[in-house]
Amino acid sequence: MPAERIDGKTFAAGLRQRVAERVREFVSETGRKPGLAVVLAGDDPASQVYVRSKGKATLEAGMASFEHILPANIMQEELIALVERLNADEVVDGILVQLPLPDGIDDKAVIAAIDPAKDADGFHVINAGRLAVGEEGLVPCTPLGCLMLLKDRLGDLSGLEAVVIGRSNIVGKPMAQLLLRANCTVTLAHSRTRDLPGVVRRADIVVAAVGRPNMVEGSWLKPGATVIDVGINRVEGRLVGDVDFASASEVAGAITPVPGGVGPMTIAVLLRNTLVAASARAGIAPPEGL
Ligand code: NDP
Repeated sequence: MPAERIDGKTFAAGLRQRVAERVREFVSETGRKPGLAVVLAGDDPASQVYVRSKGKATLEAGMASFEHILPANIMQEELIALVERLNADEVVDGILVQLPLPDGIDDKAVIAAIDPAKDADGFHVINAGRLAVGEEGLVPCTPLGCLMLLKDRLGDLSGLEAVVIGRSNIVGKPMAQLLLRANCTVTLAHSRTRDLPGVVRRADIVVAAVGRPNMVEGSWLKPGATVIDVGINRVEGRLVGDVDFASASEVAGAITPVPGGVGPMTIAVLLRNTLVAASARAGIAPPEGL
C-alpha cells in the first residue's frame, strides 16, 4: 500500500488560522498587535522570496510586519546596531534576520545581538541552551513544525526510534532535541555516519535535513516508517526533497511531499513563535492550542 501523504500545507493553514484567532484575543487584551521585524541584507533571490512571503503571512495573521531591506555591502556594526534598535522597540515582539548574510558578516555575532526574548527563529544560543536543558524558550521553526506533523500523525512518540539525518544548528540538532524531549530514542546522523542505510533502517521516524536531492532511498526504510523530508533542492527547475519520494512511498507508512510538506510549516511556526514571544513580553498566558 503506498504511503499516506502528510499534508503540511493543510496543517500549516490550520495553524495559521489558530494563530490569527489567538492574535485577535491578544489585541483585545493588550490593545496592540504583535509585531515581527524581518531583516534582509543583500539580494539573494531565494531570501527575497522568503522575506516577502513572511511579511504577507504576518499581515494575514493580523500582526504588524516591519521589513528592513539592507544593501549587500552593509557593515556588520550597522546590522548589529539595527538589531539593537529593534530589541529596544516596544512594538517589535519578534526579530528574524534572514540567513545567509552577505560575505564578511558573521552570522553568529548578529544572532547573538538579538534579545533572546524576541528571537522568533530560536537560533540564539540562549534558546538553543534552553531547548537542550529542557527549559521553555523559543524553538527553531522548521524542526518544531516537523514535530507538530509527527505528533499529528503518530500521537505519543514515546519509545519510538528516530533517526535525524543532518546536524545543522537550524534543523538537525534542534530536531533531535525535540524528539528526545518527546521521549524518542534518537540517533543524529551526519556526513561521517557509517552505514547510513543500516542506521536509517532501524527508524520508526526518519527526518532528512541534508540538502542532497533524493538521497534517502526506499530500500533504506523500515516498512511503515514515518518520513519527514526537510530538504529543498532545485533539480532541473523542479523542487525535490532529500528523500526519493517514489521509492520511499512504496515502503513508508507516511511521508511528507516536497513541496507541500515541511516548507509551509516553517512560516506558520514563525507566526506562532512571534505570538508566543509577544504574550511573554506582555505578561499574559501563552496562547493555548498552538
Ligand atoms: P546544512 O548544509 O547546514 O546541513 C546539512 C547536514 O547534512 C550536515 O549536518 C551534513 O553533515 C549532513 N550531510 C551532508 N551530506 C551528507 C551525507 N552524504 N550523509 C549524511 N549526512 C550528510 O543544511 P540545513 O540543515 O540548513 O538544511 C538541510 C536541508 O533542509 C536543505 O535542503 C535546506 O534547503 C532545507 N531546509 C528546509 C527548510 C524548510 O522550511 N523546509 C528550512 C531549512 C532548511 P556534516 O555536519 O557532517 O557536514
